[in-house]
Amino acid sequence: MPTPMADQDVLSMRQEDLMAWMTANGHPRFRGQQLFEWLWRHHARSYDEVKVWPDGLKQETAFKLPLFRLSLVTRQAAQDRTTKLLLALKDGQRVETVLLPHRYGYSVCVSSQVGCAMGCHFCASGLNGRIRHLTAGEMADQVDFANQVLQERGSHISRIDVMGIGEPLDNFVSLTRFLEIAHDPGGLNLSYRHMTVSTSGLVPAMKKLADLGLPVTLAVSLHAPNDPLRQSLMPINRAYPLAKLIPMCRSYLEKTGRRVTFEYLLLKNVNDGESEAHQLGQLIRGFPSHVNLIPWNPVAEHPYQPSPNARVRRFQSIVHEYGISCTIRRELGQEIEAACGQLRLREEEPVSP
Ligand code: SF4
Repeated sequence: MPTPMADQDVLSMRQEDLMAWMTANGHPRFRGQQLFEWLWRHHARSYDEVKVWPDGLKQETAFKLPLFRLSLVTRQAAQDRTTKLLLALKDGQRVETVLLPHRYGYSVCVSSQVGCAMGCHFCASGLNGRIRHLTAGEMADQVDFANQVLQERGSHISRIDVMGIGEPLDNFVSLTRFLEIAHDPGGLNLSYRHMTVSTSGLVPAMKKLADLGLPVTLAVSLHAPNDPLRQSLMPINRAYPLAKLIPMCRSYLEKTGRRVTFEYLLLKNVNDGESEAHQLGQLIRGFPSHVNLIPWNPVAEHPYQPSPNARVRRFQSIVHEYGISCTIRRELGQEIEAACGQLRLREEEPVSP
C-alpha cells in the first residue's frame, strides 16, 4: 500500500512546484495552478474546499500531500485595532502574528521560528532558546490567516514585516521560499518592495540575501553604536562586530538599491544618551539609511526602563544633525503585550490553581 508523502509540505510548495507535482502524478499541470490559487486566494482549509476539483483528485491529493493549516489559539485586539494572534502549528508549537493598522492599510508582523537562538538580552522571544525553524508554508499561512481576519474589516494585508519571533536569516531557505510565495501574483500577490526582513546582524546570510538582488527592505537591529555596548545587549556582536556589520549594510544598498533601516530600541540610561546618539550618527553617516527609534515596551522578565519622551526627542534631533532620516515608531497595541514573544510566553506559563 502506498504511503502518504508526509515530508512534502503543500503550503511550502511554490506554484511551479505544485504544477510539477501534478505532472509527476499523472495530472494536467494546470491542476497545480488551481491548487495554489485555492490555497492562497480562497483560503481553502481542506481539499474538500477546492470546488473546481473532482472528488477523486481531492482524495488522492489529500492522501499523498496532506494539508495542515494553522489554527487560532488566542486573538487579542487593542483599541487602535492592532490585533495579535497566537497560532498553533501542526506539532502543537505556537507562534505569534501581529496585524498593525497604518494610514495605508495593514501590515503583518510574521514570526520565522519558534523561539530564537540569538539570545538578545532585552527580548522575550529568546528566553527559552530556539525550538525549531518555521517552514515557508507556516510563514505564508500567518499572512493568509491575517488576511482572513481582515476580510471581516473589508481590508487585506498590504505589507509584510518578517520581524516577529525568531531570526529570519537563521532560517534562510524557508525565508526566501516564503518571500517567493508571498510575491507570486497567484498567491499572496505582494510586491517585494512591500516586504521587510529583520536581522540581528547575521552578516554571511545578509550577503546571501543581497546576492539574490530582491528589492526587499532589510531592517538591522542595531540597538547600540559601539561594540562593547552592543555586545552587552546582543551576543551576536561577538561573531559579527560593527566593523563587519556596517560595511555589509552599505553593500546591501549597492546590490539591491534598497536602503537599510536601523532599528534602535531606546533603553533608559543604557543606550539613550547624547553620547550614544552622536556615536550612532558618526557610525552610519555617509550612505543612505533610516533609523527607527523604538520606545521600550516593558517585559516582566527584563529590568530595562523606557526612555522618557524628552530623551527620545533629543536622541532623534542629534541623529538628524548627521543628515540621517530618523523616526520614532508609534507605540501600537500596548495594552495587548505587543513586544515580540510576550503572548506566547504568557500562554506557556503554568496556570496557578
Ligand atoms: S530580538 Fe530578534 S534576534 Fe534577538 S532574541 Fe529576540 S527574536 Fe531573536
